[in-house]
Amino acid sequence: MQDEHTAQAAKGEGPRKSNAIGFPCRQCGNQMAYRPEKDKLYCEYCQSEVEIPGEASEAAEYMYFPDEDRYDAPQWETEPGQLLTCPSCGADTVIGAAAMTASCPFCSSHYVTEAPADAKIILPETMMPFRISEQAAREQFTGWAKKQWLAPRAFQKEAKRQEMRGVYIPFWTFDASLDTSYSGFGGRRRVEHYTVRVNGKTQTRTRTHTDWYPVSGRMHMDFDNVPCPATAKLDRGLLDKLGNFSLKILHPYNPAYLAGFLAERYSIGLAAGFETVRRLMDRRMEAHIEASLGYDTYRGMRYHHHYEAVKFKHILLPVWLSAYSYHGKTYQFLVNGETGKPAGHSPLSALKIALLVGAGILVAGALLFLLMTLGQ
Ligand SMILES: [Zn+2]
Ligand SMILES: [Zn+2]
Repeated sequence: MQDEHTAQAAKGEGPRKSNAIGFPCRQCGNQMAYRPEKDKLYCEYCQSEVEIPGEASEAAEYMYFPDEDRYDAPQWETEPGQLLTCPSCGADTVIGAAAMTASCPFCSSHYVTEAPADAKIILPETMMPFRISEQAAREQFTGWAKKQWLAPRAFQKEAKRQEMRGVYIPFWTFDASLDTSYSGFGGRRRVEHYTVRVNGKTQTRTRTHTDWYPVSGRMHMDFDNVPCPATAKLDRGLLDKLGNFSLKILHPYNPAYLAGFLAERYSIGLAAGFETVRRLMDRRMEAHIEASLGYDTYRGMRYHHHYEAVKFKHILLPVWLSAYSYHGKTYQFLVNGETGKPAGHSPLSALKIALLVGAGILVAGALLFLLMTLGQ
C-alpha cells in the first residue's frame, strides 16, 4: 500500500478540502476515493480502480481497567488540516483524503474551522467499510421524504437536492466478566380469605399477603460485544432505529476506506462509554438473579458487582447522513451504511396539521350528526 500510494502532505487549502493523507491515482495523479459499491478505490477522472488490501477479521480488543481509567491501545494521530471542529454543535470531524467539506455533516453549519491535531485520541483499530453507495442512500432518503405526509412541501422538494454525506460514526464495544454477590429478601405472594361482618351479615373477602424469605448468593456472567455509541452528535433514537451492524467480523482500520468520506472523532470517551455499558450490565445481571431466584417480588436487595477482564474495541461504523435546517431547527436523516436501513426526523407543516385537524373535526361532526339522526 505504502509504495503504491505515498502519503502526501496537505497543501493547506483550509477546511474546504483536505488531502492530508492522499491516494493519488497512478494513471492521472488525481485523488482516488473509496467506492462502496465496488469495494475499491476509484478514480473518477480516468476510471481506474485499486484493490484495498486486508481481509475482514476478528476485531482487535484491548484491556480496560475501569478503576484506574487505564487502557492500552494505539493512538489516532491526525495530520494537520485533517481535523475540523464545528463551533455550532461541537462535532470534531476527521476528513478522509479526497473528501470535500465546507459544512458540518451533523448540523449543516458552514462555520467549521480547522482544529489542531491531537494525539491523545484512541485509534479506531477496526471498522465496517461503507457497503451502501451514495446513490442507494439518496434513493432511501427521497423515498422516505415522500412518505412524510405532514412535512412541508419545501422539505420534500429540498430532499431531492439534499447532500448525503458518508460519515464513519465512532462506537465502543465492551466484553466483561461480571461477578455479583447479592443479599436481600424474596417475597412470595398468596391470597388470603378472611371474613368480616357487615350490617350483621358475614362476608368473605380476599387480600394478598407477602411472605418474605432471606436470599443471598453469587452469580457469574460473561458479556460479549456490548455496544455503546461514542457520539453525542447524533440523535440516539435515530441511531437505535438504524438497526444492527455486524460487530463480530470487521476490517482493520485503513485510511483508504476514509478516502472521500468523513469520520467523527468520539465525543463520548472510553470511561463514559464504559459507565453507560456497566449500568446496562448491572441491570441485566440483577434481572437475571431475580429471575433465577424465582420469587414474586423483592425488597432490600443489595448487589455488589465486580468487573474483571474488561476489554474494549473502538470501531467506526458507516452512516450516510443528511442534516436539514428548517426554521432554525436541525433535522437529521440517517441511512445505515452497511444494510441501507433508513431513519429520520422531518419538520412538520403547520398548515398540513391544521388541515388534518380540520378534517378530523369535520369527520367527528359528521359522526355525531349520524348518531343523533340514528338515535331519533
Ligand atoms: Zn485517475
Ligand atoms: Zn455542527
